Amino acid sequence: AQELGIEVGDNVALVDIFKAREKGLNFRQASTLFSTGLAVYEERGHNLYRRQLQGPSDAMAKVDYPREDGTREMVILASNNYLGLTTHPKVIQAACDAAQTYGTGAGSSPLLVGTFPVTAELERKLAHFKGVDEACVFSSGYGANVGVMSSVCGKNDLVVVDRLAHASILDGAKLSGANVRVFRHNDAKHLDRVLSRRTNTSGTTLVAVEGIYSMDGDMAPLDELIEVTKKHGAMLLVDEAHSTGVVGPDGSGAVAHYGLTKDVDLIVGTLSKSLAASGGFVCGDSSAITYIRYFARSAMFSTCIPPMTAAAAGAALDVIHNEPQLRERLWENCRYMYGELKRMGFTVGDGPSPIIPVIVGTMGALRKMTLALHCDNICVNSVPFPAVAHGSERLRISLTANHTLDQLERALQCIEAAGKDAGPAKMSEIVVTP
Ligand code: PMP
Repeated sequence: AQELGIEVGDNVALVDIFKAREKGLNFRQASTLFSTGLAVYEERGHNLYRRQLQGPSDAMAKVDYPREDGTREMVILASNNYLGLTTHPKVIQAACDAAQTYGTGAGSSPLLVGTFPVTAELERKLAHFKGVDEACVFSSGYGANVGVMSSVCGKNDLVVVDRLAHASILDGAKLSGANVRVFRHNDAKHLDRVLSRRTNTSGTTLVAVEGIYSMDGDMAPLDELIEVTKKHGAMLLVDEAHSTGVVGPDGSGAVAHYGLTKDVDLIVGTLSKSLAASGGFVCGDSSAITYIRYFARSAMFSTCIPPMTAAAAGAALDVIHNEPQLRERLWENCRYMYGELKRMGFTVGDGPSPIIPVIVGTMGALRKMTLALHCDNICVNSVPFPAVAHGSERLRISLTANHTLDQLERALQCIEAAGKDAGPAKMSEIVVTP
């Protein structure tokens, strides 16, 4: 470790391990080094990852703190359960009924005998919700992107992704064997330049973006992007993981918000955020979806989502339609939180959104601020490099319809105080006492 310039027992982070492996450290050496570093983190109370919730992932929850031999009641600003539907009685009832009827697991891949009437009904509901022909479920949103990207594209093709696109889009693009290019975040002019440089125009060209970006909370300018993709005869895929249930008519997403349902080729989504379950989906025209059903390896070689999960997501879609006030409450919370953080002088991205980045800018300040907030029982995600660029290290705040004004006021007071205290600090100087 010393030869590689790593301070063992102080600052052994994922980044150091990546670097060390590039320099030749093997798995056994890397895992020993990493677990030694992690144990020191644990000892100092620095490890805020892999915390267990002792109840539903909602606005408030009990979080396990084994170092303190107990749990803490925290305001959760770290859940993607945007509409709070994981505890909605109708969603829970639908899951219980399906478990009674079909048991707890699907037992097989969707290509074989892993689907049930509730699974087919969910696919119909998803297609109807998004205003397209057909939908196909996957066992996760991650698997949906990997399976779709790698079945739609192959080695004669070109994939162009937004620089901030999710890891699953990039992983799928790499797996496809296609040529992969990146364009500047939300920059349609740059996308135009990248597409203009294509040499082989006979293959498939797929542009992949997100409806609402997972780390910045901003929306893609889909109206501008579709113009450019059409001009170049490229396909457009929009990942609506964070926009489903949140924007658009009836909460149907960013594509519908822009009125582009007929223009966008493929919409990918997840059942794990506003839809209160787990699993992923892709939807589009019938021939595209039929092809993906039979060629996406992550659908073919992975067991289908459990029928109770399909039933829960289907019920969540009904609630989204029948209770628009949930979306209104979510947006009230977004506007309030965004406005207050901005007034306090934080750098918080482009506008109100259920995902608000609070840019802190250095690793030391980020750790200090996150730890202080956890000590104040505010559970917030810390997003360091390499998940985001150096200098844009941030707290990632996510909001739900169930947050009360009281909870948000308390969180804001703590964030303001933590922000004042957090100068750039060396990790080794921070020790948290319970
Ligand atoms: N796409 C985006 C934009 C995401 O943020 C995520 C998850 N955070 C996924 C896909 C993967 O979804 P899942 O968690 O359901 O695998």
